[in-house]
Amino acid sequence: MLLNDPVTLLFIIIPFGLMTTLMLCLSYVGTSRHRAPLHWWIAGDLLLAAYRAVDLLQPGVIPSGPDWLGVLMPDSAFIANTAGLLLAIGCHTLALHHLAERTSGIAWHLRVLLMPVLLYGIGATVLLHNSYMLSWFFLFCVLTIGVQCYVTWPLRKRFRGAWALLAGHVALLIFHGHSTITLALDPPPPLTFDEPDMFSLPALAMDFMVSFLFTLSFALMLQEQLRQQVVQLSITDTLTGALNRRGAVASILHQERRQNGPQRYPLAVAMIDLDNFKRINDQHGHAMGDSALQMFANTVTRLMRKEDVFVRWGGEEFLLVFPGTDVHLAQMFMKRLREALDRPTAEPRLPFPIGFSAGLAQTPSLNSREDFEALLRSVDKALYRAKQVRGRVEVVEAMDV
Ligand code: GH3
Ligand code: MG
Ligand code: MG
Repeated sequence: MLLNDPVTLLFIIIPFGLMTTLMLCLSYVGTSRHRAPLHWWIAGDLLLAAYRAVDLLQPGVIPSGPDWLGVLMPDSAFIANTAGLLLAIGCHTLALHHLAERTSGIAWHLRVLLMPVLLYGIGATVLLHNSYMLSWFFLFCVLTIGVQCYVTWPLRKRFRGAWALLAGHVALLIFHGHSTITLALDPPPPLTFDEPDMFSLPALAMDFMVSFLFTLSFALMLQEQLRQQVVQLSITDTLTGALNRRGAVASILHQERRQNGPQRYPLAVAMIDLDNFKRINDQHGHAMGDSALQMFANTVTRLMRKEDVFVRWGGEEFLLVFPGTDVHLAQMFMKRLREALDRPTAEPRLPFPIGFSAGLAQTPSLNSREDFEALLRSVDKALYRAKQVRGRVEVVEAMDV
């Protein structure tokens, strides 16, 4: 079935355009800072719209339509338009790349955008003079879909919408594969640009549905990213980047549920309080006090493992949780921390030393919030004893429990 009725085409295009625009506008809400993914996606969608418009304006598609493409060489117009499609796919690839919060230089961006276009342009120019370039087109489908799947695959862990994108790519691949095999088995007469044959209803419906699905999934992923950023902000201390109390309880108990295995125990907990901090503020000013907190946090973050949990418990008090660690190992960590603070390499640089006192405990299990609070009470008591002398680490004893 040929779709050469302008009214039918408009009925398909207008709702699609409206929905896509609406989704992109909605995606703008809230994404105040990191808009690179959205901007790349919009650039891709605009190029796709241009690609479709040029396709539909080809002479013969709409009988009463303008014949302006006749001004161009039809072959080169066809190649240029498909190159526009590849450029659009490149923009979408970059949008996904930015959504994954990866950074790459301008040279890499240009490679993703221009390499497929250049290769396609060269190949198409050569092939078009010999035969219909269906297989060449399919090769590029596989290539670009492969690249998009490669970029999307790591996103599946963070965004459910990534699965919809992957499913859309598989559907596209099956569709193009099927068309290629069908046309290879029963070759069409050579394509003339007066009688385009690509506007069959299934092809057009597939094209619009998949594009719609892609933009919808992408808009959902942006919203999901925004939600994740809000959650992250709500559990992070802005000055030090450590978890705040709210994040701590959730993280420690959540981790408990996730990896409930012997490797988590014994679990060591340290409550650290910086020594004479009021004096630092008084002598060097509050801003320098803030820098001291940042330097301390940066040093801890550099030394700890990724499974350790680091929390700003309050003012200049910090909580550290070490899974699979006994108090002896935790004490060694404290020693390394003290040495690192004495010879600081972490930024920002300070004109004075930082000392700390700590209470330390280990537990064979941590099953509930009550367990956690009881553990904290005993580490607090050990910290209180350490504070009597300062610059010490005290391990919880029977009297602290
Ligand atoms: P001690 O050795 O007994 O712990 O002495 P200290 O001076 O550290 O005593 P205390 O814990 O009572 O004082 C904590 C100080 O930390 C008081 C407060 O002004 C300061 N402080 C808390 N939060 C911040 C912050 O975000 N920035 C700065 N600059 N200072 C802070
Ligand atoms: Mg203190
Ligand atoms: Mg204190």
